[in-house]
Amino acid sequence: MQIPLSNLKRQYDQIKTEINYAIQSVLDSTYYILGPDVFKFEEEFAEYNQSKYCISVANGTDAISIGLKALGVKPGDYVITVANTFIATTEAISSIGANLALVDAKAEDLLIDPILVEHKILELINAGKTVSAIIPVHLYGNYCDMLSIKEIADKYKVKILEDASQAHGAEKYGRKIGYWSDIATFSFYPGKNLGAYGDAGAIITNNSDYADLIKMLRNHGRNTGEKYSHQIEGYNSRMDSLQAAILRVKLKYLERWTDHRIESAHRYSFRLSGTQIETPRTEKDTKHVFHLYVIQSPYRDKIHHALMGSSIQSGIHYPIPIHKLPAYCLSDSFPVVELAASRILSLPIDGTISLEEVNFVSNSIIRELEDCN
Ligand SMILES: *Cc1c(COP(=O)(O)O)cnc(C)c1O
Repeated sequence: MQIPLSNLKRQYDQIKTEINYAIQSVLDSTYYILGPDVFKFEEEFAEYNQSKYCISVANGTDAISIGLKALGVKPGDYVITVANTFIATTEAISSIGANLALVDAKAEDLLIDPILVEHKILELINAGKTVSAIIPVHLYGNYCDMLSIKEIADKYKVKILEDASQAHGAEKYGRKIGYWSDIATFSFYPGKNLGAYGDAGAIITNNSDYADLIKMLRNHGRNTGEKYSHQIEGYNSRMDSLQAAILRVKLKYLERWTDHRIESAHRYSFRLSGTQIETPRTEKDTKHVFHLYVIQSPYRDKIHHALMGSSIQSGIHYPIPIHKLPAYCLSDSFPVVELAASRILSLPIDGTISLEEVNFVSNSIIRELEDCN
């Protein structure tokens, strides 16, 4: 049995006819960039998120930089985010000339710690700096403590951009992504919970001014309809029609795949309970959509190698915290994130993984742990 971290081939095989038909229709239509499928996808994805506007872009990283620009973040301003994220979050901050301010994560769920966010804001304000936005990252598909973050953002008049690249469909108190923030962004990188067959991304918001500005920014500063009357300098960050057509097919399956991820995660947690493995934790009233199922163990490297020996792919998200990356080499110290980097391991999970596979992975880990005692 070979088990990949996420089985894209099996997913494609299950929806092949529909996908191939959608692709053929786009080729025949000759709408290749933006076009009817893109606009329909935007409507459908806005509705899925119970949000007023959705504007598609070329990828999840652009979604964050364009989103920050729309929020009015200026070069030299500070944007706060967590040290436990993918580099795209921090690249987007730097790409618009803003300064990066990192904080540590909470030990319970490895998500941004609101208490540390407030400390960081006070520290920066006291040093005479301007803090203009916070980026909570819904890492692994888990939902950050948005109520606390919203309270802090309101108190200090700072905007919130949610990086929901890993959390399509996550909920807190029954509210989808975007409810407590100014803007939320998504990536449709192939391996994400909703994945294209190439790069793609989207921004959602309930604010019409932001939505209008984002529409211009993603398309060379164009006002809708006026091809060569550029209002501002923007970007070339448009979604391909092919990707939109593929995403429209896949969006119909997202709830089913998400339910399957959640069920598989519960299965893992049940199988691994009573062992020394730490299984993922969620706050109450939170729908964690398990983009990744991340366990923790002091024997992480041993387990990682043992799984590899059984043809099971596992991953580390992320082995080097942002502040320790060669690209940054910051002098900060974040004990929670640093300790987690040596203990975390992501097990195979996706919308189609079988019960048999979950059991096989769990048993391989349990067997390996017996040798550790
Ligand atoms: C995937 C991802 C992104 C960016 O996505 P791209 O579409 O690859 O640009 C940003 N943030 C996080 C946390 C991600 O996982």
